[in-house]
Amino acid sequence: MQVPFMDLKRQYLKIKDEIDEAIQETIDACAFVSGKMVRKFEEDFAQYCGVKYAVGVSNGTSALFTALKALDIGPGDGVITVSFTFIATVEAISMTGARPLFVDIDTDTYNISVSKLKEYIENFCEWDSAKKMLVDKKHRVRIKAVIPVHLYGQMADMDPIMDIAKEYDLYVIEDAAQAHGATYKGKKAGSIGHLAAFSFYPSKNLGAYGQGGAVLTNDENLASKMRMSGE
Ligand SMILES: *Cc1c(COP(=O)(O)O)cnc(C)c1O
Repeated sequence: MQVPFMDLKRQYLKIKDEIDEAIQETIDACAFVSGKMVRKFEEDFAQYCGVKYAVGVSNGTSALFTALKALDIGPGDGVITVSFTFIATVEAISMTGARPLFVDIDTDTYNISVSKLKEYIENFCEWDSAKKMLVDKKHRVRIKAVIPVHLYGQMADMDPIMDIAKEYDLYVIEDAAQAHGATYKGKKAGSIGHLAAFSFYPSKNLGAYGQGGAVLTNDENLASKMRMSGE
């Protein structure tokens, strides 16, 4: 017996009429890029996640890249994340010219380990309290952000991560590409960090008929900056 890993056809057949109608409507409106349907989805998805703004982009990698660029992250900067993730998390950091800095995962959750994150900051970084700057001592990069990745329906331990971020003036970008609808203490994935990146690749928790992505934020300035980037 063959058990398909992912049965997209079965999913489609369940909601075929609705999908066909929406596709026809989009073609009738010739709204092939952005347009009313995308705007409506952005509003609905933001509301579903409990966040003010959602900005639609071309895929999850673009979502991460757009979030990093909105924070002016680039050469000379460092971004903390995990190596136990899909390659796109690290790719997006490298694409900006910043340096990915790895912290290990927690063996129980497979998400970023808060104690390892503290250990890394205490042992490998220096904090300049006057300039409010955290610097990786070995690589001499200014650390501007941390990207926790939520995996297997479980979110990273966000409360202590947000506390650490506050203490060291870091931004938190949630990589929620595999976490649509996951919750942490009653809060939805994407609603806790300063920014959050989602993917709608067909096999993700919420899959598009093609590629898609979105960045979420409660910050109006960041949202409008990202809208202008045209990713
Ligand atoms: C899929 C995925 C991405 C990238 O999304 P794409 O839409 O494929 O570009 C980023 N991070 C994680 C954890 C993912 O699973």
